Amino acid sequence: MATTEELYQLYLQHPVISTDTRKIAPGSLFFALKGDKFDANTFAQQAIEAGAAYAVVDNPEYALGEKFVLVDDGLSALQNLAAHHRRQLDIPIIALTGTNGKTTTKELINAVLSQRFNTLATEGNLNNHIGVPLTLLKITAEHQMAVIEMGANHQREIAMLCSIAHPTHGLITNVGKAHLEGFGGVEGVRKGKGEMYDFLAAKNEEERPAGSKNGVAFVNSDDAVLMEMKNERGLSNVIYYGKNSNPANIISGKLLDSSPLLVLEWSDNLEGGNYRVPTHLTGAYNLDNILVAICIGSTFGLTPEEISDGIAGYQPKNNRSQILQTTSNTLICDFYNANPSSMFVAIENIDKMQSGRKVLILGDMFEMGDESAAEHAAVLQKAMAAQVNERIFIGKDFSAQKSEGLEHATFYLTAEDAIEGLKAHPITNSTVLIKGSRGMALERLVGLF
Ligand code: ATP
Ligand code: MG
Repeated sequence: MATTEELYQLYLQHPVISTDTRKIAPGSLFFALKGDKFDANTFAQQAIEAGAAYAVVDNPEYALGEKFVLVDDGLSALQNLAAHHRRQLDIPIIALTGTNGKTTTKELINAVLSQRFNTLATEGNLNNHIGVPLTLLKITAEHQMAVIEMGANHQREIAMLCSIAHPTHGLITNVGKAHLEGFGGVEGVRKGKGEMYDFLAAKNEEERPAGSKNGVAFVNSDDAVLMEMKNERGLSNVIYYGKNSNPANIISGKLLDSSPLLVLEWSDNLEGGNYRVPTHLTGAYNLDNILVAICIGSTFGLTPEEISDGIAGYQPKNNRSQILQTTSNTLICDFYNANPSSMFVAIENIDKMQSGRKVLILGDMFEMGDESAAEHAAVLQKAMAAQVNERIFIGKDFSAQKSEGLEHATFYLTAEDAIEGLKAHPITNSTVLIKGSRGMALERLVGLF
């Protein structure tokens, strides 16, 4: 069996990792991982034929010569290799988790820091037990810092990812209602996300790389839950940001405009100075995501101009609150994901918009477990109370909440039904929020506007 040190020596010669035989980089190290429906050991030979330098397998039957490296377990080998690599690097690693806004915040932090530093950030949403190690293994001697997104849908996941990535800095964007099934309710989410603060707290000091004391936490001082979580753990190394310009916040900011794109004014409360920044983001909730990126930029010594340029230049991708202007409508494309917390803030956002005719199109929220019916009912109620002209609900969970007295709402059981309905009753001259869980694939509706 190969040890982590032996694998590391191979990695130093072949620092590109492949896990998918359809995308083998020549000269890469192929790791055979197991999925629900496949065992990549069976593809190891193919990986070598496609140009991989070595294939790491965990079944001796597939270790067919000197290009095959046998380990106990492919996934653990990958994680241990990533952890070992990280410990050779003496750079700040900023890790972030939270219920909503991780990817957006990660991109914003990276947009700011990359104005000055050579950074590496998680690509897209590769934030799990495989994505985090793969991301860490992309860090080279050229990189000056890294920004790592950590996702979780059950307990101990963030603790495990932190033990691999050893972040020197970290943040939780917020704690809300998502993956309630896996976490065991909202308290469970709080505990699970809190593992980030646990890691940063001083008690983990002995686990950190030499020279780095307890980790630095960036905390949103407006968020009572995060403040409580921080106090419970006695976090000592904390940098605050928030909407208030009280001196505890090193950075504060407010929105000057939000219909639909955000324009903000942020303040440096240490040095003094107010800065106005236009953005390509929509949704007032994005202000928190922006403020932490500014706070981190400031902590690492960037100038206000560098920070503002980073924020102003960032364009949201992949239908995360992305604005799409069609010939007759303004769409707020938010079909990347949905959960009760993000539904609430998205509804509040369009509610407050002063933009003529407004329409809500909401799709079912998945992975809600026992609380699904109650949470769909709550979002429905919120939508009914919002100042909008039309409300459309799609999916079986919302449809199950249909009742008397909801004559100002339209229900469709499936997206296909909604497409037919919208063809028969087209929407024009409106601002339209479209939001639902990934599985609802509401992007199918876009062509109708
Ligand atoms: P995932 O769990 O899928 O990785 P994520 O946490 O990375 O999601 P993003 O992809 O950045 O989140 O954003 C997804 C959606 O979450 C956005 O389109 C928006 O609707 C909502 N959102 C973003 N930021 C916040 C926030 N600070 N508070 C509440 N909702 C937010
Ligand atoms: Mg994400």
